[in-house]
Amino acid sequence: MSSVTKQAHSWLEGLVAYDPGKPIEETAREQGLDPSDIIKLASNENPLGPSPKAVEAMKEAAESVHIYPDGGGYKLRSAIAEKFGFDRENVVISNGSNEIIELIGHGFLSPGDEVIAAKHAFVVYKLMATLFGADTIEVEDPGFVHDLEAMAAAITPRTRMIFIANPNNPTGTMVDQAAIDRFMSQVPDHVVVIFDEAYYEFVPDAPDTLKYIREGRNVVVMRTFSKIQGLAGLRIGFGLTTPEIAQVLQKCRQPFNTNSIAQAGAIAGLIDEDHQRKTRELNDLGRAFFETSFAAMGLEYVPSHANFVLVKVGDGDGVFKAMLKRGVIIRAMSSYKLPEWVRISVGTMPQNERCIATLKEVLASS
Ligand SMILES: *Cc1c(COP(=O)(O)O)cnc(C)c1O
Repeated sequence: MSSVTKQAHSWLEGLVAYDPGKPIEETAREQGLDPSDIIKLASNENPLGPSPKAVEAMKEAAESVHIYPDGGGYKLRSAIAEKFGFDRENVVISNGSNEIIELIGHGFLSPGDEVIAAKHAFVVYKLMATLFGADTIEVEDPGFVHDLEAMAAAITPRTRMIFIANPNNPTGTMVDQAAIDRFMSQVPDHVVVIFDEAYYEFVPDAPDTLKYIREGRNVVVMRTFSKIQGLAGLRIGFGLTTPEIAQVLQKCRQPFNTNSIAQAGAIAGLIDEDHQRKTRELNDLGRAFFETSFAAMGLEYVPSHANFVLVKVGDGDGVFKAMLKRGVIIRAMSSYKLPEWVRISVGTMPQNERCIATLKEVLASS
């Protein structure tokens, strides 16, 4: 073995690379299935596809890809600022909202620092903390809901940041405005609070966290184009924060971290309210169908505020594999230390119906 790997950061040894939802093409190859017979309900993608307005804008942008993107993202940042009532200086655009997590790590984390997250929070927070040699303090989340009191109580002088996924993935649970307000009154000035709001648009009357940025608190709100806008393949998201924190994050990114097609698609998707409304309506219908089906099947599930449901099936990995053989890709949850559970994304109604029929078949034969 080359000895050079010994010189890699010692803390990388414990780091396991992110395990994404299984792609359709790979499943087709491995299972000998026709890709068109496979449905993927594994990555909380938009079953209606991308915003048609975004597609149109991207086609036009494709004609100019010989030119470097606008590294400063002037138009997209302006559009985002306008939509949410901020200035451009409050907006950082990123290669998927996941990159915001990484930029915050670059800006603020050193080995030995502490990051606080809920035990069953989105796993990327811990991966990023580990990448920078920081320790993740995982706080118990009774009933799979973030316990903000306990998270505030976990703050030490070494705490640099706290992640709150609202709604959380993979649990689909939320914390409300009152809990957030109480929590924020306890957070000291040396801590950055990150609200990851990837599923914000699916929630009617979601809590207002942007007010904390207006008050000048050390808050970053993450949003993405990957979910309700249906642009997951483009890799584009953004953070809203104070101009001071935004300046730090801007220094940490690559000169052209978001590409010109993504910027154009995002600008159009941002204001495509019609596509978002259709997606929300379809999601409400499908999620209710899943939840009543699970209840009728006697399966425990976690009531969800997002576009997926966490459901207890016994042998999560076994059910995942058996569903895969039948052309239905869902997500096993062992990487979240939930080996008895699977997470299923809401699809179109025909996809949801096929998924439930297949799940019944699999559970009956196990
Ligand atoms: C899907 C998701 C994101 C979005 O990631 P992108 O990098 O924007 O595609 C962020 N946070 C959570 C909790 C998610 O589930």
